[in-house]
Amino acid sequence: MFENLTERLNKVFAGLTRRGKLSAEDVDVAMREVRIALLEADVHYSVVKSFVANVKERAVGVEVSEALNPGQQVIKIVHEELIKTLGPSERLNLTGEKPRVVMFVGLQGSGKTTQTAKVAKFLRGQGERILLVAADPYRPAAVKQLQTLGQRIDVEVFYQEGIAPPELCKRAFVYAQKGGFSVMMIDTAGRSQLDQALMDELGAIQKIVHPVEILLVVDSMIGQEALHVAEGFRDTVKITGLILSKMDGDSRGGAAISIRSVTGVPIKFLGTGEGIDALESYDPSRLSSRILG
Ligand code: GDP
Repeated sequence: MFENLTERLNKVFAGLTRRGKLSAEDVDVAMREVRIALLEADVHYSVVKSFVANVKERAVGVEVSEALNPGQQVIKIVHEELIKTLGPSERLNLTGEKPRVVMFVGLQGSGKTTQTAKVAKFLRGQGERILLVAADPYRPAAVKQLQTLGQRIDVEVFYQEGIAPPELCKRAFVYAQKGGFSVMMIDTAGRSQLDQALMDELGAIQKIVHPVEILLVVDSMIGQEALHVAEGFRDTVKITGLILSKMDGDSRGGAAISIRSVTGVPIKFLGTGEGIDALESYDPSRLSSRILG
């Protein structure tokens, strides 16, 4: 398991007496452990390959210092390369005329509605005036869920029964403009799998309300499948950021490690629990430390 990578590397190097520089053979043994740990964490093969190559290139020939043993030396390099692979943090882009539209998309069950409410609370704490829009009329339970969350965080939820989502979002936009809201956040419909009708609908909403951010919520527990999901949504809408939910259940971080380098889309938030405050602004260094344990 990835959690034990630190221990694993320390074990690999335990028998190694100080000998100046790390040799290619020493590093090869360590890289075998890194490769297995990454594959076990369900990291995409191409990412594993380049990651291991980068770490190896940097580790061979490194002088074993007084302060760090060989295992710690390699872990330091793994940590730094992991930060690079995870990608830099980027803030939400909330520029332009008000109301700025932030659209949340994702598969059903990914945690989309929950993360929408979490981000609403987070932005309200930064002084934004938020309007939530319940744009999933196919599932009354989803509308009710957002309304309940809205009440709990004291944020208004816009919903009109029997209106198709693109028209609903158009009406919500006019309402937000008139009401002086600074950010309008749309909780779009989810499906259990990628579905053309849903994609057409998301494309139509995008065209009507021109979001400054389209955030894809991905369940981090699905590992590499996250890449497939991200590519599927990206075919239709311009995903500007990722929210990895349920990170509390996936300390191995497989989806997190692969998704930025494969899709090029920045991670913006991590969902770390069911509670409304279980949201972290993405920080690659903190995430890397958590993954390495
Ligand atoms: P949606 O269908 O995509 O809107 O998903 P929901 O927001 O309804 O979330 C689905 C389930 O995942 C619910 O039981 C949530 O409480 C749970 N959930 C959402 N985010 C997180 C998270 O970050 N961590 C954990 N452990 N559970 C979460």
